[in-house]
Amino acid sequence: MSDAALQTRADAANPAELTEAEAARILAKSAIFAPPPATLPDGRRDLVGLSRAELEAEMVAMGEKPFRARQVWHWIYHQGVRDFAQMPTIARPMQQRLAERFVVGRPDVATEQLSKDGTRKWLFRFRDAQQVETVYIPDGQEDRGAVCISTQVGCTLSCRFCHTGTQKLVRNLGAAEIVGQFMAARDSYGEWPSPKDGTPRHLSNIVVMGMGEPLYNYENVAKALTIVMDNEGIGLSRRRITLSTSGVVPMMDRCGRELNVGLAVSLHAVTDELRDEIVPLNRKYPIAELMAACRRYPSASNARRITFEYVMLDGVNDSEAEARELVRLLKGIPAKVNLIPFNPWPGSAYKTSKPEVVRRFAEIVSDAGYSAPIRRPRGRDILAACGQLKTESERQRRPAAPAETVG
Ligand code: SAH
Ligand code: SF4
Repeated sequence: MSDAALQTRADAANPAELTEAEAARILAKSAIFAPPPATLPDGRRDLVGLSRAELEAEMVAMGEKPFRARQVWHWIYHQGVRDFAQMPTIARPMQQRLAERFVVGRPDVATEQLSKDGTRKWLFRFRDAQQVETVYIPDGQEDRGAVCISTQVGCTLSCRFCHTGTQKLVRNLGAAEIVGQFMAARDSYGEWPSPKDGTPRHLSNIVVMGMGEPLYNYENVAKALTIVMDNEGIGLSRRRITLSTSGVVPMMDRCGRELNVGLAVSLHAVTDELRDEIVPLNRKYPIAELMAACRRYPSASNARRITFEYVMLDGVNDSEAEARELVRLLKGIPAKVNLIPFNPWPGSAYKTSKPEVVRRFAEIVSDAGYSAPIRRPRGRDILAACGQLKTESERQRRPAAPAETVG
């Protein structure tokens, strides 16, 4: 941010208004990287990713009663059915009319890899051939686990320790592509229908921690999570969803207000000087503003702790003094700290902190009363661990401008 802009911020009579204005600017910018339309070459439209209201409008447009949307929703999201002929509460002629107009889509599985520790990674391909990675991380002890979902192809924020950050942002994922990752993962584990009584399936949680910055694609992420949380469909409670952000402050407020899912914040440094360097977004939203946004986050006041992620980089951010400063920063926030030993990737410039250094850091934080688990690296052998995801997708050259606008 320029000095002038910073000054404007400081002078603003109403900081909330400024935040709203900035949020609007971020949303406008994310629209530039919009996904392609959800229509197939044969003209049929994907029903996955439509909100309930949009689905209802589609039913009405084809001359059906609005309540049909509820039935279709149930088959798509509760039962996981993709074929209209397998929706017995819908009469045969309507099934046929649906099939002429719509599909119930999924991303294609380009590859699927299984790590020796049980972590599974999919490379999903979308209709325009762009690809992202999705990871299922089983919980070691229990029969459950989290699906780590991507929200963008690439990322605009070049955090220095992150493999995805070396890939330019190609585009945002649409709601269908975001919810589709979870649905395709469920297909492969045969976990349909969604449990009615709330009994968790293997794929019991979602962490929005894959490729990309979810709060730079807020509208699609919000739409997808609203679908996932709908009680008549997948029905995952917001307590089973955690969204991780590198600290897009103006969108954190909106996320809290509208979704109120669990929040994880990628802190990684306790001084602006270091954070400016390793998480460059800090130059726009420095630590003090980020911490203030965390204090405002609604679930933080309901004793649902905010997770602060802290990647342990050897000799960079792992000193005892930094652990003590971290404790000071967290004062008054219902927080827990997730210490992530740095996961190397081809060409990365950092080393993983030594285990005894990580342990000492954890001890200082937990002695201050914060839970500070050390995240066990999962799926490193298949490059599926935190920060190792990257695809070969590249930004297409923009189509040449029409002749009349040239010059
Ligand atoms: N863009 C979001 C979510 C995706 S990154 C964010 O930054 O929060 C998910 C987590 O993995 C973040 O905490 C990120 O900082 C961390 N991470 C990135 N690269 C890593 C690496 N090489 N080793 C360990 N953690 C990493
Ligand atoms: Fe993007 Fe998150 Fe990686 Fe930073 S850590 S480059 S925000 S995906």
